[in-house]
Amino acid sequence: MNLILFGPPGAGKGTQAERLHDAYGLAKLSSGDMLRSPGTLNNLARTYMQRGDLVPDDLIIAIIRGRLNQKDCARGFILDGFPRTAPQAEALDGMLKEIRKSLSYVIELKVDDRQLIERIAGRFTCAKCGAVYHDSFHKLKTEGACDACGGTQFSRREDDKVETVARRLESYHRQTAPLLPYYKGKGVLQTIDGMASIEEVTAKINAIVSSGSNKNAAKNS
Ligand code: ADP
Ligand code: ADP
Ligand code: ZN
Repeated sequence: MNLILFGPPGAGKGTQAERLHDAYGLAKLSSGDMLRSPGTLNNLARTYMQRGDLVPDDLIIAIIRGRLNQKDCARGFILDGFPRTAPQAEALDGMLKEIRKSLSYVIELKVDDRQLIERIAGRFTCAKCGAVYHDSFHKLKTEGACDACGGTQFSRREDDKVETVARRLESYHRQTAPLLPYYKGKGVLQTIDGMASIEEVTAKINAIVSSGSNKNAAKNS
């Protein structure tokens, strides 16, 4: 099963990708995490990311290409944050062809801009394991300690500031959302109300992926 989690910044893609990884053993390919991981290549991307602009297509396509060819992707993968532009979507089609895979589902999480701003403003992550939390919507069970690993250090993303968020939302609406009709045309698009709670969204995704309701779902699984 090969999935794309599609949606604006703050929609809950990372949160749900983590759950899909745990539940189904799918490789989690988060473009933002890859770009933020230490490495020379990725330093190039930093200026773009700090401004809230998309990094150049060639750069992210090369990173994804390398990652898709790794062994753990053979059993299925979840793309989170890629593709975000038309050239990226085209490149992805080419890469999938090369490795003889197809998309099972593109799952769109639909969330209002106002809610997105609130989600991003309250987001923080465990510095040790990367688990994602929220000041109001997903609190730590024990104050000061990560639910998943017990870590006590947390961080907030540099680009999760109000000014930058506006640019990120704008680029989502202008460059990324226009890809939706393309995936709808392929018959793989499933849209979910992402305004629901984390648990409810997980349940809806599980219902989709376990229904096998599309022609590619059984292939390459
Ligand atoms: P994305 O990867 O799409 O940017 P995240 O998964 O990082 O989104 O979620 C953004 C923030 O919103 C995080 O702080 C997360 O805890 C919180 N969040 C995720 N899903 C929901 C939800 N369904 N309801 C409320 N808050 C959520
Ligand atoms: P979110 O979903 O919360 O916006 P991500 O972690 O997916 O955050 O992305 C953070 C930043 O990394 C983006 O604002 C952009 O600068 C860069 N980035 C991530 N994925 C891509 C992509 N597919 N194409 C171009 N830039 C990307
Ligand atoms: Zn942790």
